[in-house]
Formats: sequence, structure tokens, C-alpha cells
Amino acid sequence: MRWIDQDKIQLPEGWIDRAAQAKQRVMVDGAKPDDFDGVWRCLKDPFAVISDKRCWICEAPAARSDNAIDHFRPKNRVAEAVGKHSGYKWLAFKLSNFRYICTFCNSKRKDRNGGTEGGKADHFPLQDEASRAYCEDDDTDDEVPLLLDPCEEGEWKLLGCSVESGSPVAATDDPKECERVSVSISLYHLHQDALNKMRLSQIRDLDQKIVAAKDRYNELDGSAKRQKKYRDALKPILRMISPGSDFSGEMYNHLKKRRVIEHPWLQTLLG
Ligand SMILES: [Zn+2]
Repeated sequence: MRWIDQDKIQLPEGWIDRAAQAKQRVMVDGAKPDDFDGVWRCLKDPFAVISDKRCWICEAPAARSDNAIDHFRPKNRVAEAVGKHSGYKWLAFKLSNFRYICTFCNSKRKDRNGGTEGGKADHFPLQDEASRAYCEDDDTDDEVPLLLDPCEEGEWKLLGCSVESGSPVAATDDPKECERVSVSISLYHLHQDALNKMRLSQIRDLDQKIVAAKDRYNELDGSAKRQKKYRDALKPILRMISPGSDFSGEMYNHLKKRRVIEHPWLQTLLG
């Protein structure tokens, strides 16, 4: 997961009016949000552009599945709501409520290989259920979602990856944040077996590149040739931790753990 800056998204001409009209039909005339699904479906391409077609949650290779636009706050029903909740309909056409995510993260399913289950579907658990917004007059800013959100800067830094298995792990010791990571792993199905294997392969590749770059660094002798070799060894590492690469968030957080005083370039790469 990496931070997604939604302000960078280019909207189709006329989209804002179209969204406002659809909201009016739902909130005033009682129509269903899904009757106007074209309003969010047409954003698929502009959303894909800013993450190089990768799911905003798992950052798996784009070929993992056909990604779709998900409503972060569900539009039809909310699984965890204790009161009668018919979804955050007033946010059904709001740009800031859309996420570009893959069917593995989004749809409820069971993984036969690893025996895990997941899929966000209608889930939207909160740290404090009493703060749940039920209508447009309620303030959603009072809610603390348990699901990590790629559109909130800094949340992606909470999610790490095990060097042993490639399984997702918390990259924080804060108990409340650990709970959020745990809920997110489960509901986004980030512990799916195939995903763990892909992450593990990536993390081992990164470790090999770090070892090679350390060797090139230790060989520096002031000559331009050695300097060039060292700089070339840094490029693939930088690429792997940069947005747009597979699992770049977890790779960034992994590199952070590899920092040592003898190799200050590791910190420099992290920015
Ligand atoms: Zn995903």
C-alpha cells in the first residue's frame, strides 16, 4: 500500500454535474446508487493511471485481477452497524469515497490453498461504533475506520511484510494501530497464500540487491568507475521501493528495517 493523492485524478468532462444529479436522484427521489453506477465506473481509467494499474490496497502486479472502483464507506449496507444502516448513500458519488481495488481485496472469497478468507464487501468497522454516521447530517470525521486507507497519508507505513513467509505484518508497536492492521489484513484478504508468495519473492529479490549494493559501496575507492558501479547498484532498489512497483510500500518498510550505520545510503534512499 502507498499513499494515493486523489487530488491528482483527472475527471472526465461534466463528471461533477453528473455526480451531483445522481446524488439528487438518490437522496431526494429515493433511487438506488447502483442505478447510476456509470458515475463511478467511468473513473476506472483515470484511477488506474495514478497507481500504474495496481490495486491501491495490495499493490499486487496488475495482472492479479480486474480492478474496480470500490466505495470505502459502503453505499448499500454496512455489515458492522448495530443500528439499521442503509449505507453511506450520501457518499455514493463522492470522489473522496472511491478506491481503486482488486477483486481479491474487495470481494468476499475463500482461499483454498491457504485456508484464509477475506474480501472487504460491505464491511466498514470502526474503532468506536457509537461514532457511526447514519445520515448526511452526521459527521464522518468523528469516525475512526479500522480499515487502513491508502488515501490517508502515512497509513501505508503501518503495513509491513514478514521476511520468513511474505505474510503481511504490522510495522508499528502501537496496540491501536496494530488492531487496525490486523483487521485490514483480514478484511482485505492480504494474507492470501498466492499474495504471500509473491511478496516473499519480491522481498528476497530486494535483499539480494541490498547485499550487492553494500558490496559496491565497500569497494568505493574514489575512482569514477567504482562510483558508477555503486550508483547503478542503487537504481533497482530505488525502483522497488517507489510507487508504481509491486508491493512498493512493504518493500519501502522492509528497507527501513535494513538500515545500518555503516551504510548511510540506505537512509538516503528512503528519502
Ligand atoms: Zn488488491
